[in-house]
Amino acid sequence: MRIDILTLFTEMCDRVLCESIIGRARAKGVIETHCHNIRDYTENKQKQVDDAPFGGGMGMIIQAQPVYDCFKAVEKMDERRPYVVYMSPQGKTLTQQKAFELSKLPRLVILCGHYEGVDERVLEEIVDEEISIGDYVLTGGELPALVLADTVARLVPGVLSSDECFTEESHFSGLLEYPQYSRPRVWRDREVPEVLLSGHHLNIKKWRRQKALERTLKKRPDMLESADLSKEDLQYIAQLKEKNQE
Ligand code: SAM
Repeated sequence: MRIDILTLFTEMCDRVLCESIIGRARAKGVIETHCHNIRDYTENKQKQVDDAPFGGGMGMIIQAQPVYDCFKAVEKMDERRPYVVYMSPQGKTLTQQKAFELSKLPRLVILCGHYEGVDERVLEEIVDEEISIGDYVLTGGELPALVLADTVARLVPGVLSSDECFTEESHFSGLLEYPQYSRPRVWRDREVPEVLLSGHHLNIKKWRRQKALERTLKKRPDMLESADLSKEDLQYIAQLKEKNQE
């Protein structure tokens, strides 16, 4: 998969994408990430990309021309058609399901806004979808773009050591993940649950499922409404609810 980020702050994005798991996947050629400076596509000597909003009001707006020309240049860098996402507090909130869908695409272009935003006309011209990372407003689209790039890239086959790394995780199956433990077996008088040391795979699987249900009921009961639950799961949840009422 190829991810292109259109931004006014390429170094900020590049630095993050060079690190850790995504950086290693990039070095191995499993994914490609490129950051492009919208400012390089201005047509004025001052390299100014923004101007005041028509109609008055606070702040500045990134103009349509440099964004469009930057996008057209990036589009030509690869034969595959890109899917274009504009990071915006007005978009649909990012979910694991959306990240999974995007991870199947061959090419993703992510546009970062700044100041008061981007001229609406270029958004209408090039953007396929607006995505928000939550109901709050940041100064720019760089952190949201990095959140999106990270969450999408780690779902691309070959980036993590195995698909199980994410299929077992919170939000993938509609539940929160069970608790995890590592060495030592006892730490500050706290012991690792016995079943995890038993080597009995079926019991471990059952314990983990029950813990995932317990946690989701406790921390995010809203998620249980849309989770894929078996008859056994529903019985276990009913028992937990009964216990909680005692
Ligand atoms: N004036 C805009 C509005 O009220 O909708 C907000 C502009 S914001 C200060 C500047 C840029 O940051 C946006 O163009 C967008 O790219 C990015 N941004 C801010 N908050 C975001 C969020 N929650 N999710 C995704 N992008 C966000």
